[in-house]
Amino acid sequence: MRKPLIAGNWKLHKTIAQATELVNSLLEKLADVKDVEIVVAPVFTALPSVCRQSQNSAIMVAAQNCYPQTEGAFTGEVSAPLLADCGCRYVILGHSERRQLFDEQDEFINEKVLSVLAAGLRPILCIGETLEQRDSGELFEVIAYQLRFGLAEVTAEQMTDVVIAYEPVWAIGTGKTATSEEAAEVHAYIRGLLQGLFDHEVAEQTRILYGGSVKPGNIGELMAEADIDGALVGGASLNAEDFSAIVHFPKPLRMSNTPLP
Ligand code: PEP
Repeated sequence: MRKPLIAGNWKLHKTIAQATELVNSLLEKLADVKDVEIVVAPVFTALPSVCRQSQNSAIMVAAQNCYPQTEGAFTGEVSAPLLADCGCRYVILGHSERRQLFDEQDEFINEKVLSVLAAGLRPILCIGETLEQRDSGELFEVIAYQLRFGLAEVTAEQMTDVVIAYEPVWAIGTGKTATSEEAAEVHAYIRGLLQGLFDHEVAEQTRILYGGSVKPGNIGELMAEADIDGALVGGASLNAEDFSAIVHFPKPLRMSNTPLP
């Protein structure tokens, strides 16, 4: 059984004081959560304080990016070992904003995935198609390409630490969500690809998150889909009430620990 994971991507938002306030509120609201893994991804400057605050709690911390080299003359960059040193457990990689605004290519993203795994951290590898690609029938080709290249040279053993996030670019920050059927179709396709790239066990164990305008009002139907194992949440993760409501999504029967009568 894959443990659901809900991750909040705070993007370029929140000062250290605001991040601290949000985490305090989340620690309170999410204290009862045992069956869902919770991750928050603040900006770099807030990482040390959020890591300290969430120590010994159910909240884990992700960075939003890293550079693939461990150290050297790379002004302005932060490496995976430094993020591990700071207390991070996850790193979001290949987010569509980085692909689009910073021209990140799959080979470069793959170098980052490998460096994150080598540092003992867990990559959340984001993949997803643009509206033009979907409309021109390239959806599955794009997904297959990004997954295959993003995971190049990752071993089946390392895949226990890898999380995939399917984020249709047209649904990010737009208020448009893929329907649960549209998302489920791509998630099932990704799981099939993982089986081909690795094996059945890897395909079954790998968590595949959905991302794209996830809100308290649509998380329930998304999580009811068998191949959707959680969510990568942008806008709604900036608000403690909304993020808490998303983490407390109504549990589909397959995830419920309640014994049947
Ligand atoms: C994201 O940043 O990955 C994202 C899915 O954003 P939003 O939830 O705001 O669409």
